[in-house]
Formats: sequence, C-alpha cells, structure tokens
Amino acid sequence: MTGQTQRNIYLDKNFDRFVAQLSEWLAIPSISTLSENREDVRRAAEWVEKRLLEIGFAEPRIVPTAGHPLVYAEWHIDDRQPTLLLYGHYDVQPVDPLAEWLSPPFEPTVRDGNIYCRGACDDKGQVMIVLAALEAWVKTEGTLPVNVKILLEGEEEAGGDSIAEYVRKNPNLLKADAVLICDTHMVSPEQPSLVTGLRGILYTEITVTGAKTDLHSGSYGGVAPNPLHAICVLISRLKGEDGVIAIPELAANIPIPSATEKQFWLRDSLHIEAALHAEMGVEHCVGEKNYPALERIGLRPTLEVHGIKGGFTGEGAKTVIPAQATAKVSMRLPANLDPHTVFGWLEKAVSTDMPNGYRVRITNLHAGKGVAINPDNPFIRAAADALAAEYGVQPIFMREGGSIPIAALFAEVLRIPLVLMGFGLPDDTVHAPNEKFSLSQFRKGMKTVADYLARIRNSGI
Ligand SMILES: [Zn+2]
Repeated sequence: MTGQTQRNIYLDKNFDRFVAQLSEWLAIPSISTLSENREDVRRAAEWVEKRLLEIGFAEPRIVPTAGHPLVYAEWHIDDRQPTLLLYGHYDVQPVDPLAEWLSPPFEPTVRDGNIYCRGACDDKGQVMIVLAALEAWVKTEGTLPVNVKILLEGEEEAGGDSIAEYVRKNPNLLKADAVLICDTHMVSPEQPSLVTGLRGILYTEITVTGAKTDLHSGSYGGVAPNPLHAICVLISRLKGEDGVIAIPELAANIPIPSATEKQFWLRDSLHIEAALHAEMGVEHCVGEKNYPALERIGLRPTLEVHGIKGGFTGEGAKTVIPAQATAKVSMRLPANLDPHTVFGWLEKAVSTDMPNGYRVRITNLHAGKGVAINPDNPFIRAAADALAAEYGVQPIFMREGGSIPIAALFAEVLRIPLVLMGFGLPDDTVHAPNEKFSLSQFRKGMKTVADYLARIRNSGI
C-alpha cells in the first residue's frame, strides 16, 4: 500500500471527526470588524492553537498584535527538505442581512452535501483541510515530509495590517521555499484550477470645485460652473462608453497574455462568461469589446465609479447648483504595474481632461500591487499534479480579478513562489448569507494537500 493510499484511508476514516471539529470552530463567531466579537476572535485563535498542539506541533503560539492575534507554529524535520509556509485566516465576515440565512449563521448545518455557516469556505474550512492533511501525515508516518511553518491571521476580513507588520519584521523567522495559500476557489467541482494572477488596486477620491458657494439655477443657470456635471464629463473622458480607459501611459503598459491564455479566454470552453451573466442577472457583459470577457475580468485594467456626492438628493425639488462634487474612483491593475506610478498617470489625465473653469483635486486613498505567478516552478507543478491525481482532470491556470494583499506582501518580502490552491466553489457565497462549503471539496482538498506535501519532498531546493 502506498503512503498516499494510507493517508487517504486515514482521512476517510476520520472524516466525520474533521467535520465535527470544523463545526466546533465555525460555531465561534470570530467577526474581526466588530469590536463586540473581540473575545470570540481570540477564542477562535485559541481553538486552532489547541488543534495544532493535538496534531503534534511542539510550540504553537498566539502572537499578540495591535489588533487581533496571529497564530504561529513550525515543525522542522530536516535541513535537506524544503520549507513550506502555510497561510490562512480564522476571522470571518459579518453576517448581515441576517434574515436571509436559512439556518443561523453560527450554527453549522449540513444540507445537501454542504456545510452551511459563516466562515465555512472562507477560510476556516480551507484551513481545516490543511490541518487534516498534516495530521494524516503525522498519524500514518509519525512525522511530516517537509518542514512546515504555519501563520494564521485574524484580521483578513477587516483589512488589518498586523500581519503585514509581522511579515516585514520577521523575514528570517518566516523564511521558506514556497507559501501555500488555501483561500481561493476553483472553477467548478469537476474542473480544478490554480490562481496565477491577482490584480492590484488603486482607490482614489476626486473633488471638483466650481463657484465659491451653492447657487440658484434660476439666477445663475447658464453661466455658473456645475461641478456635478463637470465630474460626469471628466469620468466619461477617462473611460468612454466603449470601456476604453483613456490614459495613454496605461494603454502602453498593459501586458500581453500568452497565446495559450488568450486561446483559453477566447474559447471559454467552460462557459464562464455565461456563468457571469447568470451571477450578475444581466444579458450581456459591458466593456472593451475587442477583448474577451475573461481577459477583461482577469488581466485588463478597470476604472470604476463607486459613488458621486454633491448637490441635492433629498425628497422633492431644489434648484441648487452645487459648489462642489466628489467621486470615489478605483482602478484594478495588472500585476506588472505599480499603483503609485499609475496614480501619477491618472492625476495627469484628470488635469488634462477636466473641463475648463473648475479646480480639481485627486487623492490616493489606498493602493495595493497585484501578483503575477509564473506557473513554471516545482511548487506549482506539484500542486497541479496533486490536483490532477485527485480530480482526474488536469487543472487550468486562472487569473482572479480581485486582490489578496497578503499574497503581494509574501511575494515582495519573502520572494518565494506563491501557490494559490483553493477548494472553494463559485457558488459558496462567501461574504454573503448562506455561506457554504462542499463536503466533497473538503474531503478532496485534504487528500490533495496530503499528496501535495509528498510531491514537494526533495524538490525546489
Ligand atoms: Zn478569505
């Protein structure tokens, strides 16, 4: 019997206990953004610390921070083996709107082969996958195949930066050959995938000022500057109806995808565009029609208006011409672009495109760089092989339109390959009511990660 067969038998035999343990952890409402749940967040950290101890980690510890604590543990087995850093988070999103939950958000409930609870997929269920895989190794072989470091945070959903500070201060402690992040999803239960790109983000605020005070449209309409109208003109100059962003420096610096990736996007054999229509409840996608929808969502930059403030929006009619208007405008950016550089280009475009007769100010509210992963390294090849062995289908490489700030930080500070191998599914409704995690994905995930650890033994160093 091969080692992997033994580990799979162990995982199957203990599967119900893993579900029970996950349920115990899920029942702790570790909502990191709400101060009333502060103690719960800590309890969730202590719960996982105890679990690590039970698995056999010698000294798991809770690391206090200015915000919620980190949980750290390591197991060194052999200098000649690679070291894998495992990242995850034990905090969860708030639960509102509460009325839409079919079962209470912190009462883990199994229905139709899924476990429903806030945090089931994002990210407690996925952290449990990794812990079960480690346990299977320890219980069948008495040890782990590679050196392991585990770093779990409790502020991921709150945008906290305690982990960033910790990573920047402790590059030696966290030194590893690769980092595995189990916090993403795959295309479908039949089609495994690995994430190879995350877009960066630039979030700005644009303020336009006209007259020194609000004016009456009867007395001044026709001659008075109207910042609300001007901001609309500005935004439509920055991005037209065709979806093309008119920032010349940007246009010149957008990466060209590989022929294989372009083919995959054009063919869309998994019908992802149709799934997007269904998810959004629309009949067609908007945007740059010269690029396939998957390229628009995965690689192309975006420019989105999130809100415009100014003038009168109350009930009834008021004939004011506002003196000022503000818009929140963000951009998603390909990973090769530094958002601070792009901010300079946007600033220039704003001053060029601004209609005459107004003062304009643009502020950079926050910026985060994207990540581009070259799949051609032993740690990602091993992940692809492990997924192919478990699912019976070769995984595809996918870019995700969103941003995972910690991934960019690991890439920048630790300079090691990132493996974004997640087992969520597109309909897990993370961050929304009725979050779930498929129990079949839970089981397959454990087996895949256990196999992955065997595959990276002796590799990459
Ligand atoms: Zn997450």
